[in-house]
Amino acid sequence: MQNFTFTRAGSAEQAVRLAAASPTAQQGAQVRFIAGGTTLTDLMKLGVEHPSQVVDINRLPLMDVTDTAEGGLRIGALVRNSDLAWHPRVTSEYPVLSQALLSGASAQLRNMATTGGNLLQRTRCMYFRDNLSACNKREPGSGCAAIEGTNRNLAVFGTSEHCIASNPSDMNVALTTLQAQIHIQGSTGERTVPISDFFLLPGNTPHVETVLNPGDLITAVTLPAPVKNAHSAYLKLRDRASYEFALASAAIVLKIEDGRVADVRISLGGVGTKPWRATEAEQVLLGRPATAASWQLAAEAAVRDAKPQSENGFKVELAKRCVAHCLTTVALTAQTA
Ligand code: SF4
Repeated sequence: MQNFTFTRAGSAEQAVRLAAASPTAQQGAQVRFIAGGTTLTDLMKLGVEHPSQVVDINRLPLMDVTDTAEGGLRIGALVRNSDLAWHPRVTSEYPVLSQALLSGASAQLRNMATTGGNLLQRTRCMYFRDNLSACNKREPGSGCAAIEGTNRNLAVFGTSEHCIASNPSDMNVALTTLQAQIHIQGSTGERTVPISDFFLLPGNTPHVETVLNPGDLITAVTLPAPVKNAHSAYLKLRDRASYEFALASAAIVLKIEDGRVADVRISLGGVGTKPWRATEAEQVLLGRPATAASWQLAAEAAVRDAKPQSENGFKVELAKRCVAHCLTTVALTAQTA
């Protein structure tokens, strides 16, 4: 690990000022905020991340979950994943988020990992974490070892000829279905970005993963009020039952009225270069009877545009079954509520 300067911020404004004042701020990638550190310290030890300055934000007042005036929820960026997963309003009104959080990592990691950090979780592509391999995300212009190499766990949606890495976060999939808003403090002020616009496709710049500018700090995430009379669930399919990343997952909010789908939102995890909203599947379902045949049609629509790699064609069928099964589960909950 290379040497770095360590500073501690007392406010969001100060954290952004400290990052902007760094001699290497113009390169952006050289300044990192640290909170739980569950991703950053790992990658620093591997030599994948090598910031010259680390700004500790753990003392910032961003640890609260509060109600919004519109009936939603404002989640401070430093709220730990465990605290969020077990928050009474999250378990009762946003169960898809609670289930997604509890399906990720281990209890110890969830106790440390934060909402802001989870949003910025880096890919688990093995070549990204290996300094000896070609990786456009880690070292722009060096190539992509995964395309001709081991790509079983990687993406089938949103890929480019420069990167096929999947987004590993479970929380991000649920937040996408819940249409979260990301609040950002930058050197020029505050702004809010819908999660649908927050993550970028790899294109020919896979190292640029979000709309964050160098030195920008995520301060909070807000959720709109829950859809009245809707139900939700998260289903994660993986190689083993715990402490494992998704091969395919689905986060679904479903509202059934008079036996038909009145509202639905579906996002997929483990299969996209970013959390993948399955809008075609949603369109297929709106107004249809709440039946197994409809769930199957939606599942097929959800994977229609998949582009599998040499080793991960199985993910297309897996994602399809994941969507159909999750819809069945949520519908059963709705019908028995
Ligand atoms: Fe790097 Fe992306 Fe290729 Fe993996 S898939 S080696 S992260 S460029």
